[in-house]
Amino acid sequence: MPFRDLIGQRHARLLLQGALRSARISHAYVFVGPAGTGRLTTARAFAQALLCAEGGDDACDRCAACRKVRAGAHPDLRVISAGRTESGAERRAVGIDQIRELKREAAYGPYEGRRKVFIVEDAEAMRAEAANSLLKLVEEPPPGIVIILISESTEALLPTLVSRSQPVRFGFIPASEVVRVLRQQAGVPEDRAAFLAALSGGRVGRALAAAAAGEDPFERRAEVLRTLEVALRGDIIRLLDAAESVARQRDGIERWLDVALLWVRDVLAWQEAGDAAALANADARPEVVAWARRANPAALRTAAMAIETAKVDLRRNLNARLVLETLFATMASSVPASRS
Ligand SMILES: [Zn+2]
Repeated sequence: MPFRDLIGQRHARLLLQGALRSARISHAYVFVGPAGTGRLTTARAFAQALLCAEGGDDACDRCAACRKVRAGAHPDLRVISAGRTESGAERRAVGIDQIRELKREAAYGPYEGRRKVFIVEDAEAMRAEAANSLLKLVEEPPPGIVIILISESTEALLPTLVSRSQPVRFGFIPASEVVRVLRQQAGVPEDRAAFLAALSGGRVGRALAAAAAGEDPFERRAEVLRTLEVALRGDIIRLLDAAESVARQRDGIERWLDVALLWVRDVLAWQEAGDAAALANADARPEVVAWARRANPAALRTAAMAIETAKVDLRRNLNARLVLETLFATMASSVPASRS
């Protein structure tokens, strides 16, 4: 995808296209910002422009090199991500073997064009051994090599790696922009687009992934609310069943938690301010109001905190079922006895 088709991230685009125009390409970049805000897409756009036969500050999107990049088949563009090991087990970080392979390829230099581009995803999760190995390459890069590290923050990276790379910062995409993209690119109706945009919290990639998953976000929310109601009623047996059924959703667990958190925050906000304009679930206002009337504010606040904790625990790769059981048990125990 060329730069002109990217969503938002004007700052990153100006910086990278400026580098292309002046032909002052750094041998290493670190793209820093939240996941789902276009870091990888922008890295691919930059790689495409670097490899495009036409040159210039954006890819032509027509030449043979551009077509190969688009098809993921250009021999001078490699994307390294945690992915899976050869035995099929799930990796949690880019490993030393992958960095060794990268260095071997880098030593050969470009295969077709003037440059060879390596994109390293989730660079913050790299272990010390792999990061140190990569550092040596960044310190003494062979000619024509461009390395793009993608990371949530610079703090998690080796400071020496950061200091030898050009930083490019990525921010959250404004909700109005996410709504526009969902409507134009994914054909999502306006009310659902507004909800998905609120749910994505400015991570347009997540909103598009949710739209691509094809599920109706409102049906999804209804299902989340049924489970939340059980949790807030404190029936321990049904809670364990609920934890198990949510845990079975695997890739959907984080979205489940996001939907639940957005709802609990809306109910709390309505209890505190009664401001309809502030609701993320604006389409479901009567239900938010009904919940706000009957839910205990202290229990809701506990629920919101417990959901945030569950999100962090999941990211730390704790067992999903245990995380959810703890979450639901915390919610249930926060409900005043007279109401359960
Ligand atoms: Zn081209």
